[in-house]
Amino acid sequence: MQTVTNEFREAAGKASFIRKMFEKGLELKAKFGADAVCDFSLGNPDVPPPEAARAVLHRIADDAIKPLGLGYCPNAGIPAVREAMAKHLSAQQGMPLSSGDVVMTVGAASALVCFFRATIEKGDEVVVPSPYFVEYGNYCGHFGGKLVPVPTHDDFTLDIPAIASAVTPKTRAIIINSPNNPTGTIYSRAELESLAALVEKTNASRGEGERPLFILSDEPYRAFAYDGAEVPPVLPLAKWAVVLGSFSKTLSMAGERIGYIALNPALSAMDGGALMSALILVNRTLGYVNAPVIGQRLAAAICNETVDLEIYRRRRDLMAKVLSDAGIEFTMPRGAFYFFPKAPGGDDAKFVDALLAERILAVPGSGFGRKGHIRLSCSVDEKIIARSAEGFKRAVEACK
Ligand code: PLP
Repeated sequence: MQTVTNEFREAAGKASFIRKMFEKGLELKAKFGADAVCDFSLGNPDVPPPEAARAVLHRIADDAIKPLGLGYCPNAGIPAVREAMAKHLSAQQGMPLSSGDVVMTVGAASALVCFFRATIEKGDEVVVPSPYFVEYGNYCGHFGGKLVPVPTHDDFTLDIPAIASAVTPKTRAIIINSPNNPTGTIYSRAELESLAALVEKTNASRGEGERPLFILSDEPYRAFAYDGAEVPPVLPLAKWAVVLGSFSKTLSMAGERIGYIALNPALSAMDGGALMSALILVNRTLGYVNAPVIGQRLAAAICNETVDLEIYRRRRDLMAKVLSDAGIEFTMPRGAFYFFPKAPGGDDAKFVDALLAERILAVPGSGFGRKGHIRLSCSVDEKIIARSAEGFKRAVEACK
């Protein structure tokens, strides 16, 4: 008997590279002990949440033990939380938003899934600069959407002419993710303005009855910018702009699953508010119903704080030194907490195996749509980064 669809039967045969490394990691840790393994494969934020979370959680606990304290809330989010988010995002994006422009979601992941559910029809295309966060393909694929990766330049900046050539009448969205997973790139204001101009031009050429092209800005790493780098806001750049984000990384609350979608107010108002109504409806009908209520209250209370970003900055600098000392080529990440260095010898799978032999876990770039690179996540202690130094050198030698 076949208990699942063919799609999932095939998917089971090709588990993601990240998943495979995760399983390898468990195996190695069981055999040699957790301390003997340098695990750079996962992006699970390990820095503690801000201290302010403690008092807020106590207060939430007191309120929760009341009738409906832990009950369902409106599908779009707790009204006071939407208000707080609108205020927070207005300051962040540099344009006034009202609570009606914001929906609270189950992380950035469900924000993307809800958006695709509301806008994608079978055969529609979603353009993404590559390398890219591999789940995008699954998120739009659930609704028959097809991801169209467009390679960035070698330094991971946007190739706007290539993106323009990839846009067809079937293209519904261009996803950008800045600061970027897996490269740590932050797109410049000029790049984003060119992209917005491309979207405006495309929509101007589409008829009144046609569906538009959106810019989706996936921003879970917005706060992670180093050396004074600016992360330009995307929402004011075009009325077709949608910002999706979460507190998974900035407040280290990935397991509590709190994210949001914010629409440019002109987009919110367009078509009788149809997009916002659809997003709120699918938040319910996809089975999420509402974002977790404890997490919503926590995120709203401390949304202007972040984890200690200095810890991530120090890890980045240390990892850069480890890689340079091993003779590995890389573009210095200006944001997020990942490195996407070149695999010495050019074969990423071979280099990942050589690292495994040194009990260092990395993910091949092929898993992010760019061969010849590996991805390293710095959501691990500095001690582990320092300990990996000799292993990186030996793995490079093995791949020469
Ligand atoms: N987008 C990117 C680029 C990510 O790296 C992740 C998680 O790692 C997500 C979205 C989803 O994050 P969450 O649903 O926890 O907000």
